[in-house]
Amino acid sequence: MELDKMDENEWKYHGEGNKSLVVSNVQHARVLRLLKYSTEDAENSHKTTEQAFRHIQNIVDYSQNVMKPLLGEKYVHNGEAVKLPLDFVRQLSLKVQQERPESRCDKVMDTFSGCALCLPNLTQLSCCCSREHRPPLCIEIKPKCGFLPSSRHVTKDIKNKVCRFCMHQHFKLAHGKWKRLSRYCPLDLFSGNKQRMSLAIKHLIEEPQNNFKIFKGGECIYSCKDDADVLQDLDELAQHLRPYFLPNGSLMNGHQSSKVVLNELIQVIVSALLSSWDPRKTHLSEGRARCEASLLHRDLLRNTNHCLPKDCVLDKILGTQMLDSLDIEGLNPLFKRVEQHLQDFPKERSSLQIDGPYSQSFLEKIQKCPTEDDGSIEYAVGKVHQYRVAMTAKDCSIMITIATCGEEDGLDQSLEIQPSKPRFTYSVSILDLDPKPYESIPHQSRLDSKIVNHYLRSTLPNN
Ligand code: ATP
Ligand code: ZN
Ligand code: MG
Ligand code: MG
Repeated sequence: MELDKMDENEWKYHGEGNKSLVVSNVQHARVLRLLKYSTEDAENSHKTTEQAFRHIQNIVDYSQNVMKPLLGEKYVHNGEAVKLPLDFVRQLSLKVQQERPESRCDKVMDTFSGCALCLPNLTQLSCCCSREHRPPLCIEIKPKCGFLPSSRHVTKDIKNKVCRFCMHQHFKLAHGKWKRLSRYCPLDLFSGNKQRMSLAIKHLIEEPQNNFKIFKGGECIYSCKDDADVLQDLDELAQHLRPYFLPNGSLMNGHQSSKVVLNELIQVIVSALLSSWDPRKTHLSEGRARCEASLLHRDLLRNTNHCLPKDCVLDKILGTQMLDSLDIEGLNPLFKRVEQHLQDFPKERSSLQIDGPYSQSFLEKIQKCPTEDDGSIEYAVGKVHQYRVAMTAKDCSIMITIATCGEEDGLDQSLEIQPSKPRFTYSVSILDLDPKPYESIPHQSRLDSKIVNHYLRSTLPNN
């Protein structure tokens, strides 16, 4: 990619989240991730080129030096901060505007700094897809928090029974964010039990919200459409998937085959999520792996053992999420201790690495944090850093890219799944690994009590 000869015609809209907008290259397996800012806040959000570049470089450092060692070398891909010609960025912004979903248009793409993050396009496989006539499939899952807190600082008992995602659903429904409740519960996905995981994925497919997407050949073919007729969408999805999962000339009728195809897809996703080279298991504590709001049959919840293969993608993400060991209720007083300390000793802000740099020594502060509160500032800072890292892991996405491979390809046997069916190779990655701002901790604390109180009021009228 020659940064001085960028042509907007070679890039197209790919997707966006709350913080950034992503465009993909039409020829190469690369994306550019550009920052967005809110239109209301336009003046405050303008950064100089140097500030914006520093901000993006911080994201790269954080992902490389902090999240990669925690989540595993093989799941995290390096990005690169780049400076683009302003003319290119402005043309690109005009070009993508019409493709953007209306619900995301409260923010605009940064066209002032010219800075972006360049990443491999994880919806495409760079290795073997060129030889293959079928475009690769990619499943994106934003799993959210997979455990119940066990902190003694938790004051509301409901938080020990119902998971944050399930409570948040009620809050979002009441505030018009979504029109229907999702039946997905992250604790089912992270349970390691294939039956529970399959149901969790089925629920994601039924109501994807912003937790589930499918790409084919790099194009998004399935994601949330709030008003859409869900059943029709599923049939359309099955049409796309049929050539991958059903042998040619299968005589099954339409409805039957849709069910079979979606079920095959779910099984492949489950295998990818559980795949690991390590034969050991991580056992999950019973009480923290079951959510009372999950709609699964009680017997299924009760009679399953909870364990994940060590080093599978779910194990890595869950382990990092669990660095939030005190819950926001236990963390908030420590945040206040840090705030007080910074008022007394403002110069220590940089040595405590409150806003980075996200270096090796930031990771050490996380890994060497004392387990018991000794009243020190080091303990408080270590816990605050751990909490922020856990927040990143609660907000990341898993990308599972699947390609079919013909008999003659002779690909590495160990990568193959379901050898009797059409054969697949897959790769699993984690994306969206931005640092979460230190300043957002008080907001997290208020949001937590709002969500819990709303849940108690709306679902348990007798409490
Ligand atoms: P969120 O609101 O979840 O925090 P965000 O604004 O931080 O999102 P990302 O999640 O990084 O942005 O990117 C938005 C979307 O763009 C992703 O959900 C994914 O579909 C797509 N995307 C991002 N990075 C890549 C990549 N490297 N390859 C392919 N697709 C990508
Ligand atoms: Zn739940
Ligand atoms: Mg995201
Ligand atoms: Mg993000």
